[in-house]
Amino acid sequence: MSTRIIAVANQKGGVGKTTTSINLGTALAAAGRKVLIIDFDPQGNASTGLGIPPSERELTSYDVVIDGAEIKAACKETIIPRLHIVPGDENLSGVETKLSDDPRRSYRFKDAMDAYRESAANDECVEYDFVLIDCPPSLSSLTINAMTGCDAVLVPLQCEFFAMEGLSQLLRTIEVVRGALNSELEIQGIVLTMYDKRQAQSAQVEADVRSFFGSKVYETVIPRNVRLSEAPGFGKPALLYDHKCSGSEAYIKLASEVIQRERERA
Ligand code: ADP
Ligand code: MG
Repeated sequence: MSTRIIAVANQKGGVGKTTTSINLGTALAAAGRKVLIIDFDPQGNASTGLGIPPSERELTSYDVVIDGAEIKAACKETIIPRLHIVPGDENLSGVETKLSDDPRRSYRFKDAMDAYRESAANDECVEYDFVLIDCPPSLSSLTINAMTGCDAVLVPLQCEFFAMEGLSQLLRTIEVVRGALNSELEIQGIVLTMYDKRQAQSAQVEADVRSFFGSKVYETVIPRNVRLSEAPGFGKPALLYDHKCSGSEAYIKLASEVIQRERERA
């Protein structure tokens, strides 16, 4: 299988992008896949959550997108076997201004990925099965770069009342990118997050989203689970912190659905 690049995107903050990137990435690695997470968020939460403190972030995704650093040089190992990361940090908040005059501003990440693919084909670096991009909470240049350079978008959707409204804006952006920058762009799927079975609202949002998006919605629903929010404080994915909690189990199921969808495509 060649490398499959998936952008984890939703312009709303706090919907579970970073939690999904970390724990889906870990579950894919646990299933034997080689995985790279690219931290595109100035908050660097995916980096911290995978045990890479700011002092250990030598080359970051900023250096890749702005200064032409090679992805193969910026990859770092994590505490999880087969899971590597290109860290992010607060410099990423300056990307928008830095790129404003660059005619290839939307292709910076794609160009870096193309160079990486060539290196991997020449056995100069690891060939990842999956690259997951943890996007920032905006439809900024970084998210556009991620969508331009990826194969598919995975959308975490929080089970709350206005979830669908933000989604239509995201889907329009995906359409625009498909029309202008990346005609091959697909939607890998939509995953419902922070599902609370005690709240009628969660079931209502699930019913609405499923009736509208049908099979694009993963069967797996990520429950609201305090272990998922505690784990990053220990610099660990939930799967390492408590592999039996409901959140870990859900991300393991999600990983097998993601793998299954990729198999069906092939
Ligand atoms: P985003 O990256 O979209 O901003 P995060 O993944 O950082 O969202 O999640 C926002 C907050 O919610 C974080 O504090 C995270 O720990 C918590 N969180 C995410 N998913 C869950 C969940 N399924 N159950 C409980 N807390 C969660
Ligand atoms: Mg985040």
